[in-house]
Formats: sequence, C-alpha cells, structure tokens
Amino acid sequence: MFSKHTFFVLKKKWLLIFLCVLLVLTSVVVYFTAIRPTFQPKPLRTIVIDAGHGGKDGGASGKTTGVSESQINLDYAFELKSICEDLGFKVVMTRKDENGLYSPFASNKKRSEMEKRSQIISQSGGDVLLSVHMNSFPLSSTRGAQVFYGVGNAEGKILAESIQQSLYQNIEFAKAVAKEGDYYVLNCTSMPGALIEFGFLSNAAEEKLLVQKEYRRSICNAVVNGIVSYLSF
Ligand SMILES: [Zn+2]
Repeated sequence: MFSKHTFFVLKKKWLLIFLCVLLVLTSVVVYFTAIRPTFQPKPLRTIVIDAGHGGKDGGASGKTTGVSESQINLDYAFELKSICEDLGFKVVMTRKDENGLYSPFASNKKRSEMEKRSQIISQSGGDVLLSVHMNSFPLSSTRGAQVFYGVGNAEGKILAESIQQSLYQNIEFAKAVAKEGDYYVLNCTSMPGALIEFGFLSNAAEEKLLVQKEYRRSICNAVVNGIVSYLSF
C-alpha cells in the first residue's frame, strides 16, 4: 500500500523529471533559434606592383652610381612585394625580371610593352595598383618622393594622398601633396592606382640613398603603410 508520504515522494520525483525535460527542451530551442554571428572572412586584397621600364628602356640613370632606373625599380618592386606578402596581401607583378614587357617581334616596342602591362593589370583582379619609378630633373637640387594619381580617378586620388601623407611623415624631403599625372599605366585601368617617383636619380645625395637597402626598406614600408591606411577606411 502506498502511504501518503510515498505518494508525495513519487509526485516530487515526477515533477523533478518534468522540470529536467523542460530545461533540456528550452535549451535546445534557445540554441537553435539564437542569433549567432556568422564568420565572414575578409576578402584577400590584391596589390598589383608595376616596375616601370625594362629591357631596352632603362628609364633614368644615376650619374654617381651608374644605376639604371629599370633595375632600381625592379629592386623596389620586389621590396614592396615582400612587405605586402608579409602582411597577408596577394601580389601580382607586371615585370618580374630585367626584360622589357614588349614582344621581341614587335615593330613598335613601346606600344607592345604598354599593351602587355595593361593586359596584366586588367587580368590581375587587383584592388590597388602601384607603379614604381625613379625621377630625374635638369635642376640637380630637386629631390623628394612624389606620388601621382590617374586623371579623374577619385579613388586613386585618395590612395595617392594616403601614400604621400605616409611618405611626408616618415621620409625626409618627401613632398607633402599628391599630384594628378597623365600616365598611361594609371589611365589604362579604373583600379585605384598610384605612380610613385621614389626619388630623383639626378640628385647625387638622393641617388646614394635610393640604392641603399635600409633606405629602400624604410621608404617601401612608408608606402605600404599608406596603402594599409587607405584600405582600412
Ligand atoms: Zn620612370
């Protein structure tokens, strides 16, 4: 026979089981209906690095060291590539060695080179274009890094200003303001692009700095800082 006491114990036991089941069911419902943040990885950014000149087109040259612009541009392009890749960017290079981008059979090598450059840029899927150059000017006292953006390229202007600002803050003699430049490499794409004249090979002191590994690293770091600031907005 059940006593009154046994009845209450049993009732208590079932109540406890019922509460446990209710708790489990509530937890399951809450788990499946709760709003959880979905993981959205940041898309990989691609930087296109364009070393100006190459092959028969040596560009400017330094009087003190005899260095050609095409060679020094390539060194700077690889330095930028290394810094960008260390930061997790994907890099596409237009020119990867001392050879020009023109076809050896082309009658108009300049035109052939520009077409190839523009083709690599348009097929790169890049987010940002950087064209690497060294400057030269008859007045030998002229010096300082200068950044250009393409004609009417509003995004390119923001990018160029960001890079110029970083250079101005970190590198002595760098110009303060980015300029619009009518350059084929910038105008052949709608991608935000900056053509950087890293310094003047016609200025003896700047030429000596431009060929130094440490200076190259510093100025390239300043450029990449400018790109990172631009992409962070
Ligand atoms: Zn050049």
